[in-house]
Amino acid sequence: MAKIQMKTPLVEMDGDEMTRILWQMIKDELLLPYIDLNTEYYDLGLENRNATDDQVTVDSANATLKYGVAVKCATITPNGARMKEYDLKQMWKSPNGTIRAILDGTVFRAPILVKGIVPYVKNWTKPITIARHAYGDVYKNTEIKIPGAGKAELVFTSEDGVETRELIHDFDGAGIIQGIHNTEKSIKSFARACFGYAVDTRQDLWFSTKDTISKKYDHTFKDIFQEIYEGEYKAKFEELGIEYFYTLIDDAVARVIRSEGGFIWACKNYDGDVMSDMVATAYGDLSMMTSVLVSPSGAYEYEAAHGTVQRHYYKHLKGEETSTNSIATIFAWSGALRKRGELDGNAELVSFAEKLERACIKTVEDGKMTKSLSLISTCEKPVILNSLAFIRAIRETLEELM
Ligand code: NAP
Ligand code: MG
Repeated sequence: MAKIQMKTPLVEMDGDEMTRILWQMIKDELLLPYIDLNTEYYDLGLENRNATDDQVTVDSANATLKYGVAVKCATITPNGARMKEYDLKQMWKSPNGTIRAILDGTVFRAPILVKGIVPYVKNWTKPITIARHAYGDVYKNTEIKIPGAGKAELVFTSEDGVETRELIHDFDGAGIIQGIHNTEKSIKSFARACFGYAVDTRQDLWFSTKDTISKKYDHTFKDIFQEIYEGEYKAKFEELGIEYFYTLIDDAVARVIRSEGGFIWACKNYDGDVMSDMVATAYGDLSMMTSVLVSPSGAYEYEAAHGTVQRHYYKHLKGEETSTNSIATIFAWSGALRKRGELDGNAELVSFAEKLERACIKTVEDGKMTKSLSLISTCEKPVILNSLAFIRAIRETLEELM
């Protein structure tokens, strides 16, 4: 059979540790035999980030803006221990943070559903995608521990020197205060990324804040979403038969639990941080979560939600067998290939991406899986495979589907 051709390159961002090992296996076993893979390769492995003074991360993000679609392997975010382990010139920033800043994007996380891995919430039969605003609020805060009695005020000084003051609290003893902010620009691009992704994936969009209590801060989020919906997306939503739904965060939490899933839930930064961990755990585990960064300009970067699976890598280095789940990384590839195919009008590529996903799901549903999946699966006699054998089992299923 002739290999599938690709018109435009895909930006390929290689990474670290166990996921870097899986990356090569996935390419060798599941992609290169079927696709004349056209990628622009960036090595985001920590050694190369260090060698290039992290320029490679910036270059890969700019390439994503240029070509529109990227696939990324998990990467190490350096800390003190990594400084020594890799003899780093400096504690390079998180690549995901750097890429997100350049793409000005919003992260969408969704679980991969498989029969036999039953969500804790039994009525969740469809995936819930969490869209987390990734700028500001408590993540960029200023705090003071108040030692004793005194007056705390919120002061804004405009460029021409005019002051606006609001009393926070008249303290009669010790306490704490915190200042947070957000920008209209960031909230607008968050809103556009969410509406755009809803249109793209044909799912309803839910958004929730605490606007009843926070009448200016949270209410501004609500107003901006409403304004952008009405001005730019309403007609498209109606045409597709999808819905934009705003509700108070408390109400959203109750409705989400009672729902069957199948929608996008846009959350402010803190809500998204907390809710995405809850949703991921409730669906199974992190090794079955996909993640895509969508920029308001329409660039997409696909990856797995989990990290580099360090503990498995050290076993691998010692020559011991590993049973690491590659599904989320394979879905990063299939997501990117499908999007590339859609943008280029390449139906063959889109169809391959779909078959690859079905092959992953069917392999697990047929009882073949990695160790961590077997622990949460209801399958009675699962066949537990090592990292490579699992990928080869997916390849066998893929051959059947083709
Ligand atoms: P992790 O790599 O997600 O792994 C944590 C644990 O979860 C693993 O030890 C393993 O449990 C289990 N696990 C995660 N993915 C798995 C998979 N595919 N198959 C089987 N088990 C899986 O998180 P971490 O150990 O906290 O972080 C390791 C490195 O990854 C860090 O350097 C961090 O900076 C980086 N990281 C990168 C990203 C990213 O690039 N997006 C995200 C998060 C973390 P058991 O060991 O019990 O089997
Ligand atoms: Mg969290």
